Amino acid sequence: MTRNADPRAAAPARPAAATCPICGRPSAEAARLRPFCSVRCADVDLGRWITGQYRVPAPPDEEASPDPDAPAS
Ligand SMILES: [Zn+2]
Repeated sequence: MTRNADPRAAAPARPAAATCPICGRPSAEAARLRPFCSVRCADVDLGRWITGQYRVPAPPDEEASPDPDAPAS
């Protein structure tokens, strides 16, 4: 008697196991709110971006790299 392998058993056991990055609760069912659990948490995340709490890599222009057009001094 052989065990019949269930294809679903091999699948990752995490069906839409996304969680809100703000509060850690399960993400909202509404796709437009994901990955957040609610409009509130989405607003929190947006507010963090606006207030600059999330660091974005500086553009290459900010680098102290030599400017090819600058006269050598
Ligand atoms: Zn949340």
